[in-house]
Amino acid sequence: MKNLTVLGSTGSIGVSTLEVVAAHPDKFRVVALTAGSNLELLKQQIEMFQPDLVSVLTADKAKALSRSLAGKKPQIMHGVEGLIAAATAAETTMVVAAIVGAAGLVPTAAAIMAGKDVALANKETLVTAGHLIMEMVREKDVRLYPVDSEHCAVFQSMAGHRCQDIHRVILTASGGPFLNWGKEKLAGATVADALNHPNWSMGKKITVDSASMMNKGLEVIEARWLFDIPVERIAVNIHPQSIVHSMVEYIDGSVMAQLGVPDMKGPIAYALTYPGRVACGVKPLDLTALSGLTFLKPDTDRFPALKLAYDALQAGESMPAVMNAANEIAVESFLAGRIGFMAIPDTIARVMDLHTPRSLHSIEEVLEADRWGRRTAREVLGCTN
Ligand code: NAD
Ligand code: MG
Repeated sequence: MKNLTVLGSTGSIGVSTLEVVAAHPDKFRVVALTAGSNLELLKQQIEMFQPDLVSVLTADKAKALSRSLAGKKPQIMHGVEGLIAAATAAETTMVVAAIVGAAGLVPTAAAIMAGKDVALANKETLVTAGHLIMEMVREKDVRLYPVDSEHCAVFQSMAGHRCQDIHRVILTASGGPFLNWGKEKLAGATVADALNHPNWSMGKKITVDSASMMNKGLEVIEARWLFDIPVERIAVNIHPQSIVHSMVEYIDGSVMAQLGVPDMKGPIAYALTYPGRVACGVKPLDLTALSGLTFLKPDTDRFPALKLAYDALQAGESMPAVMNAANEIAVESFLAGRIGFMAIPDTIARVMDLHTPRSLHSIEEVLEADRWGRRTAREVLGCTN
């Protein structure tokens, strides 16, 4: 029996996680759930999984949730304090980190410091604070399992091999909805266009990141820390079918890949049950039904966000946290209809130009860099809020 906390239980990854859990009631117990604003869905999850503790964004939402629940209620908390309480709950043995954005950093770090194993979907945790988080993982001797499909594929392709024999990690990217769009058309891309991902159904922020290819940039940084691979050895291939989820190339020229139908329940279940596997509702892969598997080089002229992420990783120190913060503000502005699609990479580039990287020694210093990046992105965009 594994005792779980699910941070971000009402999101795309959170919901898929609870589907896996519901299919295996003999293997998992839900100790704590956290959500932002979707109280209706959280209420259903509470009724179904009977957690001891839940946390929501604000005190008002906590009160509203409490009023709406009949019978035996879990302890209801709110804010960062509630997230930390859920991440460190005494009975929890594994935390599924599925909050979106840098908001996931503090509770994920708290989980590690409390000695919990982590199934990590929140890539922003490693993008902003990779070296500190990996240090904590070593110090606390906890396991950090990747949920991101590419990193789960790399993890599986590394099993039984030696790290020193790795030549390159090759992350695959679908190319998103704008794979074949020219620059002019990209400048006029709407929110609906960006949210129309061909292969994956995900939360809005990561779907826009996939359209701009910043998602792959964030994943390059995530891979650098998770697998301790230098940036020069991390490549990206566009693979529009999203069947090969990523690859590891060894020094003898041999390439190991992991394949499957694109469904996040696969990587989630693997993180929850490693080294075992369970049936989790992913459809079997029929290679004979596919018209082909193709691979292309990424075009950083049309998708500059990918290059910005490589640049941020090269610059190191506080630059990736600042880049991530600028991206979050720019994506939020794009989703609100305030800026065009290509203003996303433009804003990030301007914020990065204005930043002088400095070394980060604590999570508090990472949060400071994050705040600086957000404030500067808002200034660049001319927002007052
Ligand atoms: P989502 O927007 O669907 O869900 C996010 C969850 O976090 C929700 O429960 C929301 O209420 C909660 N949340 C948002 N802001 C919060 C805050 N400030 N404080 C507390 N809770 C907050 O996002 P998602 O698509 O499930 O993605 C979650 C994470 O997993 C992201 O980091 C994303 O990059 C990563 N990821 C997602 C997918 C996918 O298929 N969706 C795949 C790989 C990686
Ligand atoms: Mg991914």
